[in-house]
Amino acid sequence: MSREGNLEAPTRHALDWQNPDFYDEEKLNHELERVFDICHGCRRCVSLCNTFPTLFDLIDNNPTMEVEGVDKKDFMQVVDQCYMCDLCYMTKCPYTPPHQWNLDFPHTMLRAKAVKYKKGEVGFSEKLLASTDVHGQFAGIPIVVQTINAVNSTKIMRNVMEKTLGVDKDAWLPSFATEKFRHGAAKSEGFVVKDGAKTPGKVAIYSTCYVNYNEPGIGHDLLKVLAHNEIPYILVDKEQCCGMPKLELGDLDGVA
Ligand code: SF4
Ligand code: SF4
Repeated sequence: MSREGNLEAPTRHALDWQNPDFYDEEKLNHELERVFDICHGCRRCVSLCNTFPTLFDLIDNNPTMEVEGVDKKDFMQVVDQCYMCDLCYMTKCPYTPPHQWNLDFPHTMLRAKAVKYKKGEVGFSEKLLASTDVHGQFAGIPIVVQTINAVNSTKIMRNVMEKTLGVDKDAWLPSFATEKFRHGAAKSEGFVVKDGAKTPGKVAIYSTCYVNYNEPGIGHDLLKVLAHNEIPYILVDKEQCCGMPKLELGDLDGVA
């Protein structure tokens, strides 16, 4: 008898991304069809993100009302909506391994993104936007950062960005911080480490690109909470982008 995957704590399995079959488009489409068909019969994740409604609309709006009636070219419409949060896998899906259906929706989306990337179908603008460490370098430079923020908020620039980078002119855009979080972070006071029952009593902080370059206030708030609770912390010595934006593009070599 098969066991439901999420009757126990879900486990993340390694991606078989170096297997040549991983990039075989025919095999990918076969797997997408198999996974989409199971989701079509389940629909439990419809409220999680726009990926599932996109899939179900494609199914419901074709005459067969089945996955087989969906044009395979449209599969990427579904894939493009997934931002790899893992929520469906970790919290909802009853068919994750060890279930015999072995369903891993986010990894299937990632495989499709990786195939798209390998085919050279990811454009320069998407790659540039995913290089958060590159444009984040402007944060904290006096005058430059104010100038960039001011220019980025003008209608002319937003129109240019829409045309050249595909960033919707009405979309909210984070501004660059006048001081990077890592530069302005308060040093930890000399609190004694008091281990909890299950957790160590000290914290190493990896600030992330967003907090470091765009929203340092989130990081400073965290430091205040730790200090209030007398928990010692350090900022990790070296920090670079975790690679999530590149992963979302399917650039697996770029984040390996
Ligand atoms: S991993 Fe993708 S499909 Fe699953 S909930 Fe997150 S965004 Fe949606
Ligand atoms: S990922 Fe799992 S739970 Fe979510 S719709 Fe598909 S089969 Fe259902």
